[in-house]
Amino acid sequence: MTPVSRTAPQFAELLSRALIEPGVVSRAYTAFHGYSLGNQILAFVQCAERGIPVGPIATFMGWKDKGRYVRKGEKAIVLCMPVTCKRTPANQPRPAGASEPDRDQHAETFTRFIYRPNWFVLSQTEGQAVEPPPMPDWNPTRAFDALGIVEEPFTMTDGNCQGYARQRSIAVSHLAELPHKTRFHELAHVVLGHTAEAEAGMSDSELTPRSLREVEAEAVALVCLEALGLPGAGHCRGYIQHWNQHRGAEPIPERSAQRIFKAADQILKAGTADAIDAGGPS
Ligand SMILES: [Zn+2]
Repeated sequence: MTPVSRTAPQFAELLSRALIEPGVVSRAYTAFHGYSLGNQILAFVQCAERGIPVGPIATFMGWKDKGRYVRKGEKAIVLCMPVTCKRTPANQPRPAGASEPDRDQHAETFTRFIYRPNWFVLSQTEGQAVEPPPMPDWNPTRAFDALGIVEEPFTMTDGNCQGYARQRSIAVSHLAELPHKTRFHELAHVVLGHTAEAEAGMSDSELTPRSLREVEAEAVALVCLEALGLPGAGHCRGYIQHWNQHRGAEPIPERSAQRIFKAADQILKAGTADAIDAGGPS
Protein backbone atom coordinates (compact mmCIF):
# COMPACT_ATOMS: atom_id res chain seq x y z
CA MET A 1 0.00 0.00 0.00
CA THR A 2 1.36 3.47 -0.86
CA PRO A 3 1.56 6.17 1.79
CA VAL A 4 -0.58 9.13 0.80
CA SER A 5 2.05 11.75 1.47
CA ARG A 6 0.41 14.38 -0.75
CA THR A 7 -2.56 14.65 1.57
CA ALA A 8 -0.73 14.02 4.84
CA PRO A 9 -1.82 16.89 7.08
CA GLN A 10 0.44 18.38 9.69
CA PHE A 11 -0.54 17.94 13.34
CA ALA A 12 -0.43 21.74 13.62
CA GLU A 13 -3.29 22.03 11.10
CA LEU A 14 -5.37 19.45 12.96
CA LEU A 15 -4.64 21.17 16.26
CA SER A 16 -5.60 24.61 14.98
CA ARG A 17 -8.90 23.19 13.72
CA ALA A 18 -9.53 21.70 17.19
CA LEU A 19 -8.57 24.94 18.95
CA ILE A 20 -10.67 27.21 16.74
CA GLU A 21 -13.84 25.17 16.21
CA PRO A 22 -15.81 24.32 19.38
CA GLY A 23 -17.08 20.74 19.43
CA VAL A 24 -14.48 19.17 17.11
CA VAL A 25 -12.61 17.44 19.93
CA SER A 26 -15.75 16.34 21.76
CA ARG A 27 -17.30 14.84 18.63
CA ALA A 28 -14.03 13.26 17.51
CA TYR A 29 -13.35 11.79 20.98
CA THR A 30 -16.88 10.43 21.31
CA ALA A 31 -16.65 8.62 17.97
CA PHE A 32 -13.01 7.54 17.89
CA HIS A 33 -11.80 7.39 21.52
CA GLY A 34 -9.83 4.17 20.98
CA TYR A 35 -7.40 6.06 18.72
CA SER A 36 -4.80 8.74 19.41
CA LEU A 37 -6.14 12.31 19.48
CA GLY A 38 -4.31 13.26 16.28
CA ASN A 39 -6.00 10.36 14.51
CA GLN A 40 -9.38 11.14 16.09
CA ILE A 41 -9.31 14.63 14.62
CA LEU A 42 -7.86 13.39 11.34
CA ALA A 43 -10.74 10.90 11.01
CA PHE A 44 -13.29 13.53 12.02
CA VAL A 45 -12.04 16.03 9.44
CA GLN A 46 -12.22 13.45 6.63
CA CYS A 47 -15.75 12.39 7.64
CA ALA A 48 -16.84 16.04 7.70
CA GLU A 49 -15.29 16.74 4.27
CA ARG A 50 -16.92 13.68 2.72
CA GLY A 51 -20.27 13.90 4.53
CA ILE A 52 -19.79 10.54 6.26
CA PRO A 53 -21.59 10.25 9.64
CA VAL A 54 -18.98 9.70 12.37
CA GLY A 55 -19.08 6.41 14.25
CA PRO A 56 -16.98 3.39 15.16
CA ILE A 57 -14.03 2.78 12.83
CA ALA A 58 -12.10 -0.36 11.89
CA THR A 59 -9.96 -1.81 9.13
CA PHE A 60 -11.46 -3.98 6.37
CA MET A 61 -10.46 -7.11 8.31
CA GLY A 62 -11.57 -5.57 11.59
CA TRP A 63 -15.09 -5.16 10.18
CA LYS A 64 -15.02 -8.67 8.72
CA ASP A 65 -14.25 -10.03 12.19
CA LYS A 66 -17.33 -8.21 13.49
CA GLY A 67 -19.50 -9.72 10.73
CA ARG A 68 -19.67 -6.56 8.61
CA TYR A 69 -18.44 -5.80 5.10
CA VAL A 70 -17.18 -2.60 3.55
CA ARG A 71 -19.57 -1.54 0.78
CA LYS A 72 -18.18 -1.60 -2.75
CA GLY A 73 -16.68 1.69 -3.86
CA GLU A 74 -16.24 3.10 -0.34
CA LYS A 75 -13.04 5.11 -0.04
CA ALA A 76 -10.92 4.37 3.04
CA ILE A 77 -10.15 6.88 5.78
CA VAL A 78 -6.48 7.76 6.16
CA LEU A 79 -4.90 7.54 9.61
CA CYS A 80 -1.39 8.19 10.81
CA MET A 81 0.78 5.36 12.08
CA PRO A 82 3.93 6.05 14.07
CA VAL A 83 6.78 3.84 12.94
CA THR A 84 9.95 3.43 14.97
CA CYS A 85 13.01 3.54 12.73
CA LYS A 86 16.73 3.08 13.18
CA ARG A 87 18.58 6.34 12.67
CA THR A 88 19.95 6.76 9.14
CA PRO A 89 22.89 8.98 8.11
CA ALA A 90 21.91 12.63 8.15
CA ASN A 91 22.46 13.14 4.42
CA GLN A 92 20.02 10.38 3.46
CA PRO A 93 16.71 11.81 2.20
CA ARG A 94 13.59 11.08 4.25
CA PRO A 95 11.22 8.58 2.63
CA ALA A 96 8.02 9.94 1.10
CA GLY A 97 5.31 10.42 3.67
CA ALA A 98 7.73 10.67 6.55
CA SER A 99 7.57 13.78 8.67
CA GLU A 100 10.24 15.34 10.85
CA PRO A 101 11.69 12.63 13.11
CA ASP A 102 10.85 12.89 16.80
CA ARG A 103 14.21 13.81 18.30
CA ASP A 104 13.11 13.12 21.87
CA GLN A 105 13.37 9.40 21.24
CA HIS A 106 16.30 7.19 22.12
CA ALA A 107 19.43 8.23 20.21
CA GLU A 108 19.48 5.05 18.08
CA THR A 109 15.87 5.19 16.95
CA PHE A 110 13.30 7.81 16.02
CA THR A 111 9.62 7.88 15.26
CA ARG A 112 8.33 8.85 11.88
CA PHE A 113 4.73 9.16 10.85
CA ILE A 114 3.25 7.46 7.83
CA TYR A 115 -0.30 7.85 6.57
CA ARG A 116 -2.28 4.82 5.38
CA PRO A 117 -5.78 4.55 3.87
CA ASN A 118 -6.81 1.44 5.82
CA TRP A 119 -9.90 2.39 7.86
CA PHE A 120 -13.65 2.54 7.29
CA VAL A 121 -16.40 4.12 9.38
CA LEU A 122 -19.42 2.05 10.46
CA SER A 123 -21.69 3.87 7.98
CA GLN A 124 -19.45 2.70 5.08
CA THR A 125 -20.17 -0.92 6.00
CA GLU A 126 -23.12 -3.28 6.24
CA GLY A 127 -23.87 -6.53 8.02
CA GLN A 128 -24.43 -7.59 11.63
CA ALA A 129 -25.46 -4.87 14.08
CA VAL A 130 -22.59 -3.77 16.33
CA GLU A 131 -22.63 -2.00 19.67
CA PRO A 132 -20.46 1.13 19.73
CA PRO A 133 -17.55 0.67 22.16
CA PRO A 134 -18.54 2.13 25.55
CA MET A 135 -17.20 5.59 26.43
CA PRO A 136 -14.37 5.22 28.92
CA ASP A 137 -14.91 7.09 32.17
CA TRP A 138 -12.07 9.33 33.32
CA ASN A 139 -11.07 9.18 36.97
CA PRO A 140 -8.70 11.88 38.30
CA THR A 141 -7.27 9.70 41.10
CA ARG A 142 -6.41 6.99 38.59
CA ALA A 143 -4.85 9.60 36.27
CA PHE A 144 -2.63 11.14 38.97
CA ASP A 145 -1.48 7.65 40.09
CA ALA A 146 -0.70 6.47 36.57
CA LEU A 147 1.15 9.69 35.71
CA GLY A 148 3.12 9.70 38.97
CA ILE A 149 1.92 13.22 39.76
CA VAL A 150 0.67 14.38 43.18
CA GLU A 151 -1.99 17.00 43.84
CA GLU A 152 -0.96 18.99 46.91
CA PRO A 153 -2.86 21.50 49.04
CA PHE A 154 -2.65 24.99 47.58
CA THR A 155 -0.35 27.17 49.71
CA MET A 156 0.18 30.34 47.66
CA THR A 157 -1.22 33.54 49.16
CA ASP A 158 -1.43 35.47 45.86
CA GLY A 159 -5.16 35.82 45.31
CA ASN A 160 -4.72 35.99 41.52
CA CYS A 161 -2.98 32.62 41.30
CA GLN A 162 -5.39 29.82 40.43
CA GLY A 163 -2.87 26.98 40.50
CA TYR A 164 0.76 26.01 40.05
CA ALA A 165 3.01 23.10 39.10
CA ARG A 166 6.38 22.19 40.64
CA GLN A 167 8.45 19.18 39.65
CA ARG A 168 5.86 16.36 39.72
CA SER A 169 3.25 18.01 41.89
CA ILE A 170 0.47 20.48 41.21
CA ALA A 171 -1.92 22.52 43.34
CA VAL A 172 -5.23 24.15 42.48
CA SER A 173 -6.67 27.02 44.53
CA HIS A 174 -10.05 26.34 46.13
CA LEU A 175 -10.93 29.78 44.73
CA ALA A 176 -10.10 28.72 41.16
CA GLU A 177 -12.88 29.89 38.85
CA LEU A 178 -12.72 26.78 36.66
CA PRO A 179 -10.98 24.10 38.76
CA HIS A 180 -11.06 21.41 36.03
CA LYS A 181 -9.42 23.80 33.58
CA THR A 182 -6.72 24.80 36.09
CA ARG A 183 -6.06 21.17 37.08
CA PHE A 184 -5.56 20.09 33.44
CA HIS A 185 -3.42 23.16 32.73
CA GLU A 186 -1.07 22.43 35.65
CA LEU A 187 -1.01 18.68 34.89
CA ALA A 188 -0.06 19.59 31.33
CA HIS A 189 2.92 21.68 32.50
CA VAL A 190 4.28 18.56 34.24
CA VAL A 191 3.46 16.08 31.43
CA LEU A 192 4.88 18.43 28.77
CA GLY A 193 8.16 18.50 30.71
CA HIS A 194 8.03 22.23 31.55
CA THR A 195 8.60 21.70 35.27
CA ALA A 196 11.48 19.28 34.56
CA GLU A 197 13.08 21.89 32.27
CA ALA A 198 13.00 24.42 35.08
CA GLU A 199 14.33 21.89 37.58
CA ALA A 200 17.22 20.94 35.28
CA GLY A 201 18.39 24.54 35.55
CA MET A 202 18.25 25.06 31.82
CA SER A 203 19.31 28.47 30.56
CA ASP A 204 16.73 30.86 29.14
CA SER A 205 17.75 30.03 25.58
CA GLU A 206 17.20 26.28 26.11
CA LEU A 207 13.88 26.64 27.92
CA THR A 208 10.62 26.57 26.02
CA PRO A 209 9.69 30.29 26.00
CA ARG A 210 7.07 31.15 28.62
CA SER A 211 4.48 32.24 26.05
CA LEU A 212 4.80 28.90 24.22
CA ARG A 213 4.66 26.97 27.51
CA GLU A 214 1.39 28.69 28.37
CA VAL A 215 -0.07 28.03 24.90
CA GLU A 216 0.97 24.36 25.07
CA ALA A 217 -0.43 23.77 28.58
CA GLU A 218 -3.70 25.55 27.83
CA ALA A 219 -4.13 23.69 24.52
CA VAL A 220 -3.77 20.39 26.40
CA ALA A 221 -6.35 21.61 28.94
CA LEU A 222 -8.76 22.59 26.15
CA VAL A 223 -8.47 19.20 24.45
CA CYS A 224 -8.98 17.30 27.74
CA LEU A 225 -11.96 19.44 28.79
CA GLU A 226 -13.70 19.09 25.43
CA ALA A 227 -13.03 15.36 25.22
CA LEU A 228 -14.53 14.80 28.68
CA GLY A 229 -17.39 17.29 28.28
CA LEU A 230 -16.18 19.48 31.17
CA PRO A 231 -16.68 23.27 31.29
CA GLY A 232 -13.96 25.82 30.51
CA ALA A 233 -12.93 25.26 26.87
CA GLY A 234 -14.20 28.72 25.90
CA HIS A 235 -11.93 30.32 28.51
CA CYS A 236 -9.03 28.26 27.17
CA ARG A 237 -9.57 29.76 23.71
CA GLY A 238 -9.27 33.29 25.12
CA TYR A 239 -6.18 32.43 27.16
CA ILE A 240 -4.45 30.78 24.17
CA GLN A 241 -5.20 33.82 22.01
CA HIS A 242 -3.77 36.12 24.71
CA TRP A 243 -0.46 34.20 24.93
CA ASN A 244 -0.29 33.74 21.17
CA GLN A 245 -0.27 37.51 20.82
CA HIS A 246 2.79 37.54 23.10
CA ARG A 247 4.37 35.16 20.58
CA GLY A 248 3.71 37.61 17.75
CA ALA A 249 0.61 35.64 16.65
CA GLU A 250 2.87 33.02 15.03
CA PRO A 251 1.18 29.70 14.20
CA ILE A 252 1.78 26.96 16.80
CA PRO A 253 4.93 25.05 15.70
CA GLU A 254 4.44 21.50 14.39
CA ARG A 255 6.73 20.18 17.16
CA SER A 256 4.50 21.82 19.80
CA ALA A 257 1.34 20.47 18.18
CA GLN A 258 2.75 16.94 18.39
CA ARG A 259 3.72 17.48 22.04
CA ILE A 260 0.24 18.83 22.84
CA PHE A 261 -1.56 15.84 21.32
CA LYS A 262 0.84 13.41 23.00
CA ALA A 263 0.40 15.02 26.44
CA ALA A 264 -3.40 15.14 26.14
CA ASP A 265 -3.41 11.48 25.06
CA GLN A 266 -1.28 10.56 28.07
CA ILE A 267 -3.55 12.43 30.50
CA LEU A 268 -6.77 11.02 29.02
CA LYS A 269 -5.44 7.43 28.85
CA ALA A 270 -4.00 7.63 32.37
CA GLY A 271 -7.45 8.34 33.81
CA THR A 272 -9.31 5.56 32.04
CA ALA A 273 -9.50 1.92 33.12
CA ASP A 274 -6.98 -0.58 31.76
CA ALA A 275 -9.84 -2.64 30.36
CA ILE A 276 -10.07 -0.31 27.33
CA ASP A 277 -8.48 -1.82 24.22
CA ALA A 278 -7.29 -4.80 26.24
CA GLY A 279 -9.07 -7.17 23.91
CA GLY A 280 -12.10 -7.73 26.11
CA PRO A 281 -15.40 -8.87 24.63
CA SER A 282 -16.63 -6.43 21.99
ZN1 LIG B 1 0.70 27.96 33.10
